[in-house]
Amino acid sequence: MSEGLTATKQQTTGDWRKRYRSGLLGVFGSPQLCLDHGQGCVVVDSDGKEYLDLLGGIAVNALGYAHPAWVEAVSHQAQTLAHVSNLFTTGPQLDLAEKLLALANAPEGSAVFLSNSGTEANEAAIKICLARKSGRIIALDHAFHGRTLGALSLTHKIAYRQPFGPSAVDVTFITPEDPEILAGELEKGDVSGVFVEPIQGEAGVVPLTDEYLQQVRELTAGHDALMVVDEVQCGMGRTGRWFAHQSAHITPDVMTLAKALGGGFPMGPTMTFGSDVSGILAAGQHGTTFGGNPLACAAALAVISTIESENLLTHVGQIGTLMSSALRQSHPRITEVRGSGALLGVQLDSDIASELVVAARGAGFIVNAANPSTLRLAPPYILTEAEAQSFIVALPGLIDTV
Ligand SMILES: *Cc1c(COP(=O)(O)O)cnc(C)c1O
Repeated sequence: MSEGLTATKQQTTGDWRKRYRSGLLGVFGSPQLCLDHGQGCVVVDSDGKEYLDLLGGIAVNALGYAHPAWVEAVSHQAQTLAHVSNLFTTGPQLDLAEKLLALANAPEGSAVFLSNSGTEANEAAIKICLARKSGRIIALDHAFHGRTLGALSLTHKIAYRQPFGPSAVDVTFITPEDPEILAGELEKGDVSGVFVEPIQGEAGVVPLTDEYLQQVRELTAGHDALMVVDEVQCGMGRTGRWFAHQSAHITPDVMTLAKALGGGFPMGPTMTFGSDVSGILAAGQHGTTFGGNPLACAAALAVISTIESENLLTHVGQIGTLMSSALRQSHPRITEVRGSGALLGVQLDSDIASELVVAARGAGFIVNAANPSTLRLAPPYILTEAEAQSFIVALPGLIDTV
C-alpha cells in the first residue's frame, strides 16, 4: 500500500448506514462498508481501513482500482466525446467491435451489439432466439442470467422470479451435464435457444465440462436451436482465456459479456457468430440509448489492451492454479476448490460461508458467499502472488474462528 493512498483525504459520509437506509431502496440489504478509494487490489473504507479486495466489484474490476491506463483512457475520452447516441458511430465503438470479434475468433459475418449490463446483453440474446424461431428457451438448473424480466425468466432461483408473476419467456430448466435430457427437450422441436454459463458463477462457481459444452453445441445445431453462452462473469480473460468456452474449442451462436470488460464502466455486449445469426434482428428491432457510447468503449478498449500489454491472461492462469491448489490443502473444512484463473469457488464442509465473509472482512479481506457453503473469489487480474499468499495464509485461522 502506497503512502499516497492512505494519505488520500476521505470523504465525509457522516452516518452512512442511516443515510443509506433513508435514501436507497432496500433491494441490496445493508451495505457492508462505505468505500472511499482504492489503488491496485486494495480498497479503503470511509474509516480509513484497508482491504485486499478478492471480489473485485463482483468480477468487474479486472484491472483493480484506479489503474493508470484505464484512468487515462476514460479521462481522455471524457474530455473528447462521451456520448453521441446510436444515430452515430465513433472510433472507439468501431475499434471495440473489431477487437471483440478478433478475440473471439469470430467467423466472417459475425457482429456485436453493445449495451450496458449483463442482463441487457442477455435480453438481446433472448430476442435473437425468439425472433428467429418462436418457442421455448432451455436454461440450466442454478443458472443466473440477470434481473430484468426476460433474463430473469432464465434465472433459476425461484425466490428471484416468483414475486413477478408468470415468466416473460417460456423457459424449461434442465439438469446440466446430461446430454440425454437436453436431447429429449430438443427433439420436441420447439426450442429456440439453449443458454449456458461455461462456469456458473452465482451458483457457486460450477464449471460445465468441455464435453458438455461440445454436446450442447452439436445438439443445438442438429435441432435448429441457437447456443447462447453467457460469459458475463467468466469471460474477458477471467479464466486465463479470453472466453471460458474456448477451452471446449467450440463456436457458439451468441455470446454475452459484461462485468470485467468495462473494468468498472458499464458495458454489456451481445455477439452473434456468423452472418445468419447476425442477420436475425433487423433495423429497429432492438436498441439502447447509452449502449456503445465512446466513453464505455474507451474503458473496455483500455481493459483489453492492458490485459494484452501486461500479459495478464498468463498471470491469471498462474495465480488461479497457485490459489486453488494452496487453498484446497489449507484447511480440512475446505472440501474442494472449483473454477479457474480469477474465478474460484472455495467449497466448505458446511454453511459457514456468510460467517467467514464477516471474519475475512474483519481481517482485511473482501470475499463473498456465492451460496451458504461456497466462498467466491473473483479478484482483479493484477492480483500479485504476495497478495494471494496473504489470503492463503490467513484463511485457515479465519475458518477456525467461525
Ligand atoms: C452478473 C451476471 C449477469 C447479470 O449481469 P448484470 O450486469 O448484473 O445485469 C448475467 N449473467 C451472469 C452469468 C452473471 O454473472
